[in-house]
Amino acid sequence: MTDCLFCKIVRGEIPAKKVYEDEHIYAFEDISPKAPTHVLIIPKKHIRGLKEAAPEDAELIGRLHLVAAQIGRQRGIEDGYRTVLNVGPKSGQSVFHIHLHLLGGRDLNWPPG
Ligand code: 5GP
Ligand code: ZN
Repeated sequence: MTDCLFCKIVRGEIPAKKVYEDEHIYAFEDISPKAPTHVLIIPKKHIRGLKEAAPEDAELIGRLHLVAAQIGRQRGIEDGYRTVLNVGPKSGQSVFHIHLHLLGGRDLNWPPG
């Protein structure tokens, strides 16, 4: 997608602090972190959000979570982190390219707001 913010980050047209990249997945630091670790993990393929994901995206969605677990291990935050998918505007989704938030490095309240 030409005018998608996160597609532009994947293409290097907008700078971001890259945390991880492979053939399918790109991960970078959130510009406005809500925890000591706040990484956004996205598929390189443009998918608008979870509710727009198709059966053929199942592997990509799994990969997002496995990359989160890998980053959690590397950062030593396995005593407690959270992965979050905001879905739709009422959840707070503001960027319509599916992204998994990885939050950790502090106590996390439950339930989330
Ligand atoms: P959402 O609210 O859609 O679930 O999450 C979007 C996230 O993207 C927010 O946490 C926001 O801080 C982050 N974000 C928005 N614009 C940019 C940007 O240009 N660069 C980076 N690194 N993060 C961004
Ligand atoms: Zn996109």
